[in-house]
Amino acid sequence: KRMITTDVIEEDLPLEGNLRPQTLDEYIGQEKTKKTLKIYIEAAKQRHDALDHVLFYGPPGLGKTTLSGIIANEMGTHMKVTSGPAIEKPGEMAAILNNLQEGDILFVDEIHRLNRQVEEVLYPAMEDFAIDIMIGKGASARSIRLDLPKFTLVGATTRAGLLSAPLRDRFGVMHHLEFYDQKELQTIILRSAEVLGVEIDTRGAAEIAKRSRGTPRLANRLLKRVRDFAQVKYDGRITYEVAVFALDLLEVDQYGLDKIDRRILQTLIVNFQGGPVGLETLAAAIGEDAGTLEDVYEPYLLQNGFLNRTPRGRTASALAYEHLGFEKPAQD
Ligand code: ADP
Repeated sequence: KRMITTDVIEEDLPLEGNLRPQTLDEYIGQEKTKKTLKIYIEAAKQRHDALDHVLFYGPPGLGKTTLSGIIANEMGTHMKVTSGPAIEKPGEMAAILNNLQEGDILFVDEIHRLNRQVEEVLYPAMEDFAIDIMIGKGASARSIRLDLPKFTLVGATTRAGLLSAPLRDRFGVMHHLEFYDQKELQTIILRSAEVLGVEIDTRGAAEIAKRSRGTPRLANRLLKRVRDFAQVKYDGRITYEVAVFALDLLEVDQYGLDKIDRRILQTLIVNFQGGPVGLETLAAAIGEDAGTLEDVYEPYLLQNGFLNRTPRGRTASALAYEHLGFEKPAQD
């Protein structure tokens, strides 16, 4: 099992609730998004109106669910959570919508995975706050329109491009969540440590931050793992030494890369002479699904200059060669 997967794993669950910031002021980072959301929330509240529908896109674990909860909290309404793959039939979506109250937030995670028929229920719901229901069969069938309370749909997806155009067009607000920088992650770790009642110093927090690949979910998970080492092997306090010892054992390296990341780069360098190689071919060579490679592994490798995306495929950068200890062949 991959420890540094950015998906939610079982051991995160008892953590996620407690560690989630409840207000925009408590929420660290994503300054641009926060600033604009603040204005939209303020304006909607002044008008006693629901907030426009919001789409958050970006890699997993960066705070999309958390922000959605914060919106509900700041608006003084409730959030109902569901996900694309969880809703199979149009009737299920209609029932969820029909149970919402005025101003509620409906959070749909992995919204790109809604099937077409379910998605079509959302079009009039988002645009006119209504759903069309068919009654009867055959020649006597007719459709009636049911009004819904004014609600806000908050959708989350890894890439905005995965959404169909009609769905994407119905979001008034779109925000791309960015990876967090080290300073922000360090602040998040210090805050989480306080919530968890763990003693940690700033260098210990900095070291965990450095290896958390820009992702708060991972930062929290690594913190929890390092705490276990601190407790069993040391006096319970997380210092730089404890963090290095624990993270090295967990095989999360200086850049936050784990075995799978290193295998991707190594495969690219050894099997494909550094590329360029197509996404599908590379995915097959490492035994991963191409979508997962593109959405989960690649963004961090691209952002940090280990991997390049060219029209002819992926290439390994000089940094990748150096980090893995390979000699980069001279360019011809
Ligand atoms: P996503 O929905 O994008 O996958 P989540 O909202 O579930 O991500 O966030 C993952 C974890 O990271 C949560 O436990 C949350 O508490 C934490 N987290 C995310 N963003 C922040 C932040 N800006 N400040 C503090 N903690 C955060």
